[in-house]
Amino acid sequence: MRAQPKASHFIDGAHVEDENGTPFESIHPATGEVIARLHAATPAIIDRALAAATAAQADWAARAPVERGRILHRAATLMRARNRDLSVLETLDTGKPLQETLVADAASGADALEYFAGFAPTVTGQTIALGGDMAYTLREALGVCAGIGAWNYPMQIACWKAAPALAFGNAVVFKPSELTPLSALALAEILAEAGLPAGLFNVVQGAGAVGSALVGDPRVAKVSLTGSVPTGRKVYAQAAQGIKAATMELGGKSPLIVFDDADPDNAVGAAMLGNFYSSGQICSNGTRVFVQRGLRDAFLDRLAERTATITLGDPLDEATQMGPLVSHAQMERVLGYIAQGRAEGARLVCGGTRVGESGAFVAPTVFADVTDDMVIAREEIFGPVMTVLDFDGEEEVIARANATEFGLSAGVFTRDIARAHRVVARLQVGTCWINAYNLTPVEMPFGGVKASGVGRENGHAALEHYTRIKSVYLGMGDVDAPY
Ligand code: NDP
Repeated sequence: MRAQPKASHFIDGAHVEDENGTPFESIHPATGEVIARLHAATPAIIDRALAAATAAQADWAARAPVERGRILHRAATLMRARNRDLSVLETLDTGKPLQETLVADAASGADALEYFAGFAPTVTGQTIALGGDMAYTLREALGVCAGIGAWNYPMQIACWKAAPALAFGNAVVFKPSELTPLSALALAEILAEAGLPAGLFNVVQGAGAVGSALVGDPRVAKVSLTGSVPTGRKVYAQAAQGIKAATMELGGKSPLIVFDDADPDNAVGAAMLGNFYSSGQICSNGTRVFVQRGLRDAFLDRLAERTATITLGDPLDEATQMGPLVSHAQMERVLGYIAQGRAEGARLVCGGTRVGESGAFVAPTVFADVTDDMVIAREEIFGPVMTVLDFDGEEEVIARANATEFGLSAGVFTRDIARAHRVVARLQVGTCWINAYNLTPVEMPFGGVKASGVGRENGHAALEHYTRIKSVYLGMGDVDAPY
């Protein structure tokens, strides 16, 4: 086993195994090789993790924020020092090319730890003058937070949840996707080495049932899920049963609107980044590329030319630009959508096939002449499949961009900056880019509207989702009772 962890779970500061749990394997999708064997959490393991988190949280919340921040800072430094090992691990688990994981995964996780380390000591309440009496507010931790992750950015997702939760005084029980169980364990080790007290960051493995057991447990105060819309509906409903705080980071089918005055090469580059990076397995991808008719032919020619140069192959080779999909099942799903796009009459500009025979590789694929009603323009494919749609006018494209149940993100390319602001103001999404795409620095809040989710991760907005306000009224005089 090339990436076998010491044990399946990490609880109360230690590696924990329970062989009574259902066994499962982590597979390197470029080769099909088994890289680790683990066990899903049993009810006893889940209980142990929640008990440890509950026991550790109050003391952690009572510490000076600067002390909590110092530990997270140390963890960020350790992560940066081990970036290469962590990147290789993420590449083995997800299949994403090392060229990407070296810059995008542990590195962005470390950014989150640093950002929230610095943020924690700045958190204050309010004082409220009441003409004699007064009130003040306290920002309190929520308690134990359950984090549930998707498989596309396992380390980043774990850090985007753990960093604010821990910085503001919470404890975390994190369940990674069963497809990518390894990097959350590496994060737990790093946090422990950085001095995080035992019990504050626990990792339990397993499929949806383990996630559901966490969400339903009365010891959990808050649930943060990154996943698909169907899972989001279930988890949000279950959290509502317990009247729990919830953040839902879900899927999308985001519009990328290219007006004909845009810089063509920048627009093509952004469309490629927003469809082919991580083999297209990014929630915020601009998978509906609306190109104004005047630029359409030049855009498609340049896109086909540049797409043909993408190097697919062994993701551990740093020259490789595109790896496989996360699993063979995901590859089959994506190939199914490609077949559907052809059957619906979309024009295949390039790609459209599996590459090789053993790995889960799909060629970067572009469909043109796509119409709004086609399944490939409506459903999240989560693979390297770009759909290009034509449009004529601004009003038209805004209406068509908004005509979806999703509302995660959007991009606008134009040199007319007034038009750019006018259009983004009317797009029903949580995150917009103007003349850029898919950049998600930790300083900027990120999240969706409509079916794409509730709540925000990152930025100052995260404070609202990992703390609550306690109001304190202070009577300064006698009690004025009419009895
Ligand atoms: P899934 O929705 O299949 O799974 C997400 C996580 O939820 C997994 O850990 C899964 O476990 C778990 N889960 C499944 N059912 C339940 C349940 N009933 N209760 C609790 N937990 C459950 O998503 P994927 O892992 O397939 O990830 C891809 C999806 O994630 C895409 O739709 C993508 O758009 C979205 N995503 C959203 C992002 C955002 O920030 N908005 C970012 C990244 C991805 P397991 O899979 O192990 O069974």
